[in-house]
Amino acid sequence: MEELAGLTQSLGELRETFKSGKTRGVEWRKAQLRAILKLVEENEDKIFDALQQDLGKHPVESYRDEVGIVKKSASNSLESVQKWMAPKKGHLPLLLFPATAEVLPEPLGLVLILSSWNFPISLSLDPVIGAISAGNTVVLKPSELAPACSSFLANTIPHYLDSQAIKVIEGGIDAAEQLLQQKWDKIFFTGSPQVGRVIMSAAAKHLTPVTLELGGKCPTILDSLPDSDLEVAIKRIAGGKWGPCSGQACIGIDYILVEQKFASILVELLKKCIKKFYGESMENLKNLCRIVNKHHFNRVCNLLEDPSVSASIVHGGSWDEENLMIEPTILLDPPLDADIMTEEIFGPLLPIITLNKIEESIEFINSRPKPLAIYAFTKNERFKQKLLSETSSGSITFNDAMIQFLCDVLPFGGVGRSGFGRYHGKYSFDTFSHEKAVLHRNFYFELEPRYPPWNNFKLDF
Ligand code: NAD
Repeated sequence: MEELAGLTQSLGELRETFKSGKTRGVEWRKAQLRAILKLVEENEDKIFDALQQDLGKHPVESYRDEVGIVKKSASNSLESVQKWMAPKKGHLPLLLFPATAEVLPEPLGLVLILSSWNFPISLSLDPVIGAISAGNTVVLKPSELAPACSSFLANTIPHYLDSQAIKVIEGGIDAAEQLLQQKWDKIFFTGSPQVGRVIMSAAAKHLTPVTLELGGKCPTILDSLPDSDLEVAIKRIAGGKWGPCSGQACIGIDYILVEQKFASILVELLKKCIKKFYGESMENLKNLCRIVNKHHFNRVCNLLEDPSVSASIVHGGSWDEENLMIEPTILLDPPLDADIMTEEIFGPLLPIITLNKIEESIEFINSRPKPLAIYAFTKNERFKQKLLSETSSGSITFNDAMIQFLCDVLPFGGVGRSGFGRYHGKYSFDTFSHEKAVLHRNFYFELEPRYPPWNNFKLDF
């Protein structure tokens, strides 16, 4: 395989930079974080253009899900990095007196970040912010499936960030494979569980730690609600399903669980919301992203091909192949063994699964791989507690969808098949740091019984 142009030299340079100690200083870290802020502020229009080209994202959506996220994350890190870097004192047992203990965060070294195409700016820059805050050198490989954003990052980052410490390498699977053959101090991957396995086996060769931000099917439970709350819930469900990248979102709503008796009202309310937010029909769709490429377009359309699945469509179901648009589509009780209910949908199709009792949702979720996110719209505190204690997921959000992504105080990451490791805010800093245990002793007070000979010593506890 032909080597990526200058890869060995680039990695050598990044290792030298790390060795020099330059990236460890707080001022360097802050300067890079300020530079990221400047980069997004000065290039907002270019970012909107690139996202429009790659995904047809509306500028408001691009600001909300990409530019705004990066600005918030960089500002938060800028404000907090010095505090995060400080060693934390630990309390020691009297037995160890006199001594002091501290936990000292240290950078890992050279880290690789492989990102996904659905939020190609924020899912690239957000981990970079974490890696820089923690004092590492970085290689970022954006996804080849969002080529305008990938080339924007590759062309712009060198003008703002320290090129001796942060490099962007563009390319597809070949490039990823070559990068994975190298020795890294950490690999941070955002993508599918299938490729997650490839990443882990490559990392095993050098015992490289990995963070895997993967996907899966995120269920939404809709309990019985008073009318006014139901109205809000429906807006949040519609916004959470079709709003971010037309359903091409790892924490997007995959399907809804609802009691049978509420299904028809749910369908009617969702239809109204779709009409208001995204347009009445295929011909006048608005505010909706397109599917990223032909392959994914066919993949999503094929989920509807099975006659028993298409028979369950209660709204939508049409598409425009030329423009890679798929109408927001609702399905009522498609077969549970069909691909649409066994694979991550990652598109604008929304199955509704009816249950006799809403409590059955717990068993439904537990009989499937652990989700990245669960959403539950309910006012029943007992049911909330049951969900908390009896289900497992990367996150659980009550009475809203998707916005947990914005909460820097919450760790973002999966569990089980939806991945492991976490980031955002301080968690990003921790993900890219090693917490070194430091014990300081002096030379007073020797406890002689710790040393042999113990011949005449009796344990008398
Ligand atoms: P993907 O796994 O196909 O690709 C992700 C990255 O891996 C890309 O950079 C790609 O170049 C590289 N890659 C692809 N095949 C490879 C191979 N064989 N060897 C080495 N590298 C390879 O995922 P995707 O299509 O970009 O994204 C969709 C998936 O990502 C969904 O499952 C979604 O849920 C998940 N996702 C998760 C998060 C999260 O934060 N948890 C965010 C976005 C997307």
